[in-house]
Amino acid sequence: MTFASLGLIDALQSTLDTLGYKTPTPVQARAIPAVLAGRDLMAAAQTGTGKTAGFALPLLQRLTMEGPQVASNSVRVLVLVPTRELAEQVYESFCDYGSSLPLRMAVAYGGISINPQMMKLRKGLDVLVATPGRLLDLQSQNAVKFDQLQTLVLDEADRMLDLGFSRELDAIMATLPKRRQTLLFSATFSDAIRTLAKGLLNDPLSIEVSPRNTTVKSVKQWMIPVDKKRKAELFCHLLKKRRWGQVLVFVKTRKGVDELVDTLIAKGTKADAIHGDKPQPARLRALNSFKAGEIQILVATDVAARGLDIDDLPQVVNFDLPTVAEDYIHRIGRTGRAGATGEAISIVCADEVELLAAIEILTKNTLQRIEEPGFEAEHRVPVTNTAGQVLKKPKKLKKPKVFTNLVAKTPIKTKVKNPANNNGGRNAGNGKRKV
Ligand code: AMP
Repeated sequence: MTFASLGLIDALQSTLDTLGYKTPTPVQARAIPAVLAGRDLMAAAQTGTGKTAGFALPLLQRLTMEGPQVASNSVRVLVLVPTRELAEQVYESFCDYGSSLPLRMAVAYGGISINPQMMKLRKGLDVLVATPGRLLDLQSQNAVKFDQLQTLVLDEADRMLDLGFSRELDAIMATLPKRRQTLLFSATFSDAIRTLAKGLLNDPLSIEVSPRNTTVKSVKQWMIPVDKKRKAELFCHLLKKRRWGQVLVFVKTRKGVDELVDTLIAKGTKADAIHGDKPQPARLRALNSFKAGEIQILVATDVAARGLDIDDLPQVVNFDLPTVAEDYIHRIGRTGRAGATGEAISIVCADEVELLAAIEILTKNTLQRIEEPGFEAEHRVPVTNTAGQVLKKPKKLKKPKVFTNLVAKTPIKTKVKNPANNNGGRNAGNGKRKV
């Protein structure tokens, strides 16, 4: 199959030639003709499978071929994404794919001055990529109008539709024209989100190019059980022993991120951080110097879990497991992209067993356990399986008892617990997660 056979115009085909894209990926093969035909879409595709081009290419073509000149402060295609880094990346993809087309495009997100974004909007935009909060700021200043809007894209749609963004998204939706094309793209779609999404879509085409909620096969995954207090020590040990190159490390809290970065820098390792408390220019600087290979370790909260495309990233480490199981899939999708291989290592302590079980249920994969000699956990991480059973309760590793009377040696009762009842690891009513 070729891009020409999908109906893409010559200008886009020659740009794709220059970028070295020879054949469409499966999600592109299905999405491009549907978007060109004006259909609504609900597309589930693993991260790194080329979904951005799946919506950007046909939308750029439609904008070029049809539609009126865009009026002042108006927008024809709105792409909403959950994080600032992803906004920047999706915008850059639009600019790359549309480099030979006469279209006006811009990106808008918080943490930086709003004025340049308002200036760009003044002349009208064919494509605006935005995060919800900043878009609402722009709306409140009458800097953006949607009467010419023809397409809305929700990238990482499950995250956009979950509790954290629901109020902002409702406010935005209320101002969009009812007659429009709506495209939802995500690597993961929970059943609740599917139901919610149906209300937004008109006779949608459902595209599922890979089994739902699966991880990329080319990523080798395993976990190392360890005591909580020794996680940083174990990470530094592995970094040295396994001679890791660049590693993206996910840590649960902003404070935890800073602490690990301080530890690494104190040991002479080049490391930097991305989390919600850092000013946006510093976040972008950290990401860009990581992409340029100037720093070895990027430590981040889940703000960096979604969509980021970093070439040839060999290792992702979960220093802490995510509290929402779906984020595991997004996190490890930062490696093994575009057909490359990668490793995803989770450092797991006993407290995290229910999160581990939730991930294993979701991905239908029991993570292989590999103990690191010298770091065996005193607080054992109970054995889990994909049926959601925790087969042993956390128990302190004890010195073996010497029994004088064999009758006294009764087996320890194992209590079977089902963490699936715990809402698959989702923190109930979590509202906006601070990452
Ligand atoms: P995405 O899933 O959209 O983040 O894309 C993942 C990576 O695949 C990006 O680096 C794209 O540049 C690359 N890519 C997307 N489509 C193609 C294609 N048809 N051929 C080669 N590389 C592609």
